[in-house]
Amino acid sequence: MSILVATDFDAAEWAQWWTVLQAVLPGEHLVRDVADANADGIDIALVANPPAGALQGLHGLKLVQSLWAGVDKLLADPSVPADVPLARMVDPRMTAAMAETALWAVLGLHRGFFAYAARQRLGLWQPHLQQRAEDISVAVLGLGEMGRATVRALLPRGYAVLGWSRSPTQLDAVATFSGDASLAQVLTQAQIVVNLLPLTDATRGLFNAATLARMPAGASLVNLARGGHVVEADLLAALDSGHLRHAVLDVFAVEPLPAGHPFWLHPRVTVLPHAAAQTDARSAAAVVAANVRALRAGLPLHDLVDRRRGY
Ligand code: NAP
Repeated sequence: MSILVATDFDAAEWAQWWTVLQAVLPGEHLVRDVADANADGIDIALVANPPAGALQGLHGLKLVQSLWAGVDKLLADPSVPADVPLARMVDPRMTAAMAETALWAVLGLHRGFFAYAARQRLGLWQPHLQQRAEDISVAVLGLGEMGRATVRALLPRGYAVLGWSRSPTQLDAVATFSGDASLAQVLTQAQIVVNLLPLTDATRGLFNAATLARMPAGASLVNLARGGHVVEADLLAALDSGHLRHAVLDVFAVEPLPAGHPFWLHPRVTVLPHAAAQTDARSAAAVVAANVRALRAGLPLHDLVDRRRGY
């Protein structure tokens, strides 16, 4: 049996991943191209932004393991067989990186560091009043791997944390809400909203003129999840009108963010190049190996995607 590694990696990424995958999967036949194996003998595909149709005709597949956390693109690719288990990446190092980024964004917004960076470019020496963390309410939308790690990073800093998920979730010291009906209640209370939802039919375009208007005047948005969550024109309007103070954006409708996009030079927008939390090849390879071993041993697979939920 063979394992196909189908990705859009550049040469440097390949070199890193190939080495670690071979190290954690001794005895497995890894191939980078379907042509390097008997297609029917490929029973596992390790994928990271594979070219569309990359898994076409692989009739022997028993596991598709994503090397990335989000699987929205894979679910939209008809060549990913709907009846083959699809596992997403839950990499502890990536989760830790996300919590770091979220904490950095919240601290930057709370303390006004992004505003100071903009004032520096204008040569403006203009301090503002310092607020206490406990006076800042932060809503974390999505209480999965990334959301819970973010909550764990925020609580010790003293922030008043709210959480929102699809099904009821209980977290110590967090005011939690669930379901569509409670979204407005969460947004109206939040000075900072951190989006860590998966991109599904239910969450696409969640940040639009109506929901952004629910956020209090002067609130800020941190989107570290997927660009499709935000109606960009509506966000720009909310920033330009002064209703929203700032947006920290890691993900965009079109990536890379096109040259000339208004977000690039907007004084109230901080742009990251989809770098909030990258898969760490070394720790992720161990996660991959655990699922490969589970499959070979006939044991339950980890971190399977529920295709009906879309995440
Ligand atoms: P996850 O573990 O699957 O958690 C998803 C959370 O969102 C769960 O709490 C879930 O609720 C909630 N949710 C799903 N649909 C919902 C809905 N319609 N209404 C309310 N809550 C809903 O996901 P994750 O691994 O934390 O990833 C979160 C996001 O981060 C994804 O979009 C992923 O693509 C993105 N991500 C970005 C980067 C980056 O570098 N920017 C890196 C990694 C991941 P339940 O608890 O009820 O299921």
